[in-house]
Amino acid sequence: MAEIIHRELDPQKSSISLIIWDVDGTLYQSSPNLSEQYRNANKVLFKKWFPNRSEVELTQEFLQIKEQTKSSTQALSNMGCGSLVEVEQQLELYLDTKKSIQPNQDLVVFFSKLTDLYPARHWAVRNGFTVSTIERLSLIGFEKGQDGLFGPFEKVIGTFDTYQVAKPSQLIFADLLRMANVPAHKILSVGDRAEIELTPAKKLGMQTALITYGKPAEKNKDIDYIIQTPYDIESLMQ
Ligand SMILES: [Mg+2]
Repeated sequence: MAEIIHRELDPQKSSISLIIWDVDGTLYQSSPNLSEQYRNANKVLFKKWFPNRSEVELTQEFLQIKEQTKSSTQALSNMGCGSLVEVEQQLELYLDTKKSIQPNQDLVVFFSKLTDLYPARHWAVRNGFTVSTIERLSLIGFEKGQDGLFGPFEKVIGTFDTYQVAKPSQLIFADLLRMANVPAHKILSVGDRAEIELTPAKKLGMQTALITYGKPAEKNKDIDYIIQTPYDIESLMQ
């Protein structure tokens, strides 16, 4: 069940007409294997771009920059490994997502019931390429339907090719709000990292839900609701 953090929310304003879903760590639980794959890919890039520097030193610099940018890919780009798009292209060469994303038919069925019961629209917005985002959603089991939707998702957006920047860029959320064509308070942004998906959404007046998969929730004033899994979303829509 969802835990309501900001109890002062006006129930009249709480009807949700659009949910913006993060993908990694939100629609599927992050696996240690995938984190390991990213760490190894980072090391390959370090070796390629900075052959004369130590891995320890580079890792420290990377972590420092990541603290500011919030995005690993953006951090690698800032370090000098190419543009955001170029860094992601290099990283993807070393990722085997099939190994880390399990099919989840229960989730597919859940979303199909959810869209039958509630008129809210759903978008998936991921830090990465659109084509890779579709691939990850396909691995979960979502399929392109005749209605033009991809599973429940009216839009699937990879921020790197669409915006050339990564979440939490305010530019992305401002554009999502523009495209949504509904008041911000009718939009719910759902993600597993408050600073990435919730803070920029909150700044624009959207509602926010942190998804934890049972981990202790981070403390952040921009969290309206805490939910454990995507299945808990229904309790926020009634
Ligand atoms: Mg995430």
